[in-house]
Amino acid sequence: IPSKLPDVGSTIFSEMSALALECQAINLGQGFPDYPPSEVLIQAVSNAMLQGHNQYAPMAGLPALREAIASKVQTQHGRSYSVNSEITVTSGASEALMSSLLALAHPGDEVLLIDPAYDLYEPSIRLAGARAVRVPMRPPQENDPAFCIDWNRIEAALTDKTRMLVLNFPHNPTGLTLKSEDLDALETLISKHPILLLSDEAYEHIVFDGQAHLSPVSRPLLAEHTVLISSFGKTFHATGWKVGYCCAPAAVMTEIRKVHQFTVFSVSTPMQAGIAQYLRTADALSGLSGFYQKKRDRLLAGLKETVLRPLRAEGTFFLLVDTAALGDGLEKELALRLTRDVGVASIPVSAFYGDPNHPEANHQLLRLCFAKLDTTLDQALERLQGLE
Ligand code: PMP
Ligand code: GLN
Repeated sequence: IPSKLPDVGSTIFSEMSALALECQAINLGQGFPDYPPSEVLIQAVSNAMLQGHNQYAPMAGLPALREAIASKVQTQHGRSYSVNSEITVTSGASEALMSSLLALAHPGDEVLLIDPAYDLYEPSIRLAGARAVRVPMRPPQENDPAFCIDWNRIEAALTDKTRMLVLNFPHNPTGLTLKSEDLDALETLISKHPILLLSDEAYEHIVFDGQAHLSPVSRPLLAEHTVLISSFGKTFHATGWKVGYCCAPAAVMTEIRKVHQFTVFSVSTPMQAGIAQYLRTADALSGLSGFYQKKRDRLLAGLKETVLRPLRAEGTFFLLVDTAALGDGLEKELALRLTRDVGVASIPVSAFYGDPNHPEANHQLLRLCFAKLDTTLDQALERLQGLE
């Protein structure tokens, strides 16, 4: 049958996880923890089921959870969203992204992506009938081994068809965070070109070295144009629960809800009730950055004993490593070889570009996920230390 996405296969995350399983490799590829959520949270969800929270939740989400989200976002960013009309609970960040793109991008529109970009965005844009315009970050250089957002290049890519810019900070896969100069640049851009910002903040609670996560919604001008999207998957070590949310000005949210109500209608009720309850506890959102910073540092220390060179990691639970010492070639081929021969699965960064086989998408970088038990990280490091 005619395909709407003829060039799309299964995601690199599914592919590498399946290969890791087949080869009994340690899976530092797909981003998920190998430890469970808090028992208090699990108990809260079980209690919610036992207490009868088992039928459809309201379309926009349980009021208790929307209230908890409103209060969390207000504390984090000083922005107040209406519980009734500006917050929707979604089936993970994924559904929030897809529903927003289907609702807001029109046929013929252009949507800007900053490369490397998470794999979900472009197919969703295309299903909306719009076109993804991919603007690369400046890749790491000899004297500055980190990716860098090029706001001039982004501005130069704007046309009268541009509807939206997708942001994702803390950034998967580079670990970059937004700085206040970036928000300044965004303010300048939005005051000249009033486009929408789709801000995917799935890793909002994982930022290192004393930084705070900066969201565009912390600036009033930007907030008027932003759909803020996040998920409890990373925050609560529960990627399989698929509960997320989006916040946006009421007129924008009205449109997003039109899609949300006909894709999932509503999200798992006991999950929502349990998460709402848990968010009321004092330590629900604290300590995650410290927890992951220790894991990042453990991985960094171990990588010193390998030929792999880590790039700077400011947030998320991913670290990029430069594999130049292992020779040339496509990143994907190297990732497959490391999984099979060394027993460590990773994700090629080229998978986050429009054409993964293009030389400009191949910077000899692999993404390692450090949301793993220390023992798992140590075992993986031991294997990587054998590389020459
Ligand atoms: N955005 C980014 C940048 C991600 O890395 C992920 C996957 N964790 C998602 C969105 C999807 O999040 P969820 O699992 O909550 O749908
Ligand atoms: N977001 C996860 C990652 O970047 C993958 C989620 C998925 O498998 N779709 O690894």
